[in-house]
Amino acid sequence: MSRVARLAALLEEPLLVIGLPGIEAGQAGVRYLTGLASSNSAVLVEPDGQATLYTDFRYLHRARALGVADVVETPRGLVGALGEILRGRRIGVEAEHVPYAAVRTLEEAGVDVVPRTGLVESLRAVKDEDELAAIRRAAALSDEVFAALSRERFSGRSELELVWWVERSFREAGAGIAFGTIVAAGPTGASPHAEPGERTIEPGVLVTVDAGCVVDGYCSDCTRTFAVGEVSERLRELYALCLDAQLAGLAAVAPGAHGRDVDAASRAPIEVVGLGSAYGHGLGHGVGLQVHEAPVLRPESSDVLEPGNVVTVEPGLYLPEEGIGLRIEDLVLVTEDGCERLTRFPKELLTVA
Ligand code: ZN
Ligand code: ZN
Repeated sequence: MSRVARLAALLEEPLLVIGLPGIEAGQAGVRYLTGLASSNSAVLVEPDGQATLYTDFRYLHRARALGVADVVETPRGLVGALGEILRGRRIGVEAEHVPYAAVRTLEEAGVDVVPRTGLVESLRAVKDEDELAAIRRAAALSDEVFAALSRERFSGRSELELVWWVERSFREAGAGIAFGTIVAAGPTGASPHAEPGERTIEPGVLVTVDAGCVVDGYCSDCTRTFAVGEVSERLRELYALCLDAQLAGLAAVAPGAHGRDVDAASRAPIEVVGLGSAYGHGLGHGVGLQVHEAPVLRPESSDVLEPGNVVTVEPGLYLPEEGIGLRIEDLVLVTEDGCERLTRFPKELLTVA
């Protein structure tokens, strides 16, 4: 069944999926349903499976070539035009991805707007063969780049130099960049979403590298932590603890598992040694057209895993008072009986020069 048909089967009223400039989730929804990559388009899916794609002149030719929906040209002011077209109708919109101003415009034009959540996301969370093939290619390229990175000299170079090295490697292989690459040495790594800077990397520290590429629209996401030269026993112990947590998380990933339980499994080894407060973020997130999507693995998650989900498993330890941070992240596919690692670069503590 087509993606549009599967969405239609979930609908009580027509759903308008709007991809506006800056609203990545809406754009990903339009792309998922129609194949159109655009920063100004919308698709209206009717409960009977009819789909109409609205976009402006810049995307018209590509939209028509897709052949998956009726295409209607709108002016650049897409939402105003949709208000005119849909006046008097009861229409669902994605409450989490449509700006308030756009809802107001539709309502003022006389559209009866119904807020809906999670419909397209629930479909996107289960990857089909083509999506999985793209994610596998992205993960394989990520493995190659991490392997090449591990042969590079770290000491004496800045975090930003290595960021550029990683991103250039992805680009040279024909891929895009999924998110701003993180290279975080020593104290920089004590912040989970570290801001790489001009800090020169010195021997004796850990360096966390979190990087992802985009292949055919689909993202990879992988983190490895490297030791620069000889590191202290303390750093080795913390690394071993983080790896225990990561393996416990991987072992808990299975169809039917609750996101919060998988998260808890990874937390247990860290809490046992009293470092629970150093692991302050969730275990993982779904990855696909977006680098953060459904389902999520964290303490408040109500998601239940199913075969075809692609999620990250990424515990970390952050001790700012000691200037220490580390994280280990794999991208995995939920299978019929557990999970398959898509990122396969080794996870024992690797020493770089
Ligand atoms: Zn990551
Ligand atoms: Zn991640």
